[in-house]
Amino acid sequence: MGIIGNWLASDEGPSRTSGQLRVGSMASGMEVTLPYVALRGARPGRTLWLHGQVHGDEINGMVAALRFARSLQPETMSGNLVVTPTGNPQALDARRKRNPYDELDLDQSYPGSASGLITERLAHALFEEVRGVADVLINLHTMNPLFDARPYTVYKVHAESSVSEAEVLAAMAPFYPHVACRQDVGGKGELPGNIAGALDYQCLAAGICAFMLELGSGSRLEAETVALAERGFSTLAQQMGILAGPPQPAATSLRRVTRRGWITADEGGLFIPTTRAGERVSEGMSIGDLLRLDGQQTAVRAVTRDGVLIGLRSDPVVHTGERLAFVAWEWDTVPLA
Ligand SMILES: [Zn+2]
Repeated sequence: MGIIGNWLASDEGPSRTSGQLRVGSMASGMEVTLPYVALRGARPGRTLWLHGQVHGDEINGMVAALRFARSLQPETMSGNLVVTPTGNPQALDARRKRNPYDELDLDQSYPGSASGLITERLAHALFEEVRGVADVLINLHTMNPLFDARPYTVYKVHAESSVSEAEVLAAMAPFYPHVACRQDVGGKGELPGNIAGALDYQCLAAGICAFMLELGSGSRLEAETVALAERGFSTLAQQMGILAGPPQPAATSLRRVTRRGWITADEGGLFIPTTRAGERVSEGMSIGDLLRLDGQQTAVRAVTRDGVLIGLRSDPVVHTGERLAFVAWEWDTVPLA
């Protein structure tokens, strides 16, 4: 068990701590560390782990997790809370998604390697702490800063995991996601790369209930989104028995998305949406116009089936092939117990 797990397992009574997990050092001698905050309750119980970010420009989740930790009193808790505000400190400091020193995607690098590139070492250092300690872990993200999105969730199904899809869906309900996207680990048609290297997928493999919570846009603070996440953490902690009090409301059904895709620009220009993130689009509709710099304007090619706009581009400057919208194309409604 790691440093955090050992501290939580101690019988020295309710307490709060914070520290830095050492991963390595820069040429200058500056330490590369993972900061953490941990709260040990008065009575034993389950452990909720909030991982503030894996992508360095995704801020809302870090803020919500740290504020939630500040709001709790260990003396009233049965169980524990751990916040690792960033898993990617060098990317955070550089205000970018990926670590500038190796350009790897941290959320495609778990469970990591103790002898690899810096991103792989950061992944390994975190995962060694999480394994055997977390009962539920939320992998906090946002969309790319160029997009608007309403809060939603993404999850995977792991065939050998002891955690069922129903458990994962129930843990999402406190956040009222407008869609709950079940992601194909093969990643086809959606995002390139090693989707199986996502922290939440590796957690499922280790028997930890885990999912991704997508909280709005990157590189900006969205107060309402942060507040929704804080309420959701509280409700989930109550469902886990960590916090006492009357049951808080949660979603009673989820819109489970099983196919997603991007709408991309055919030509460059300025994208002027005629729709908003979170809205439905129906077959034959266009999501907006492309205004060219010669003053001409054309509608974006119409969609060929009904969909739900998960993310919509808010930076109008687009080139051929760039992403305009992230769309759910297939979904069903799952009632929750
Ligand atoms: Zn992300």
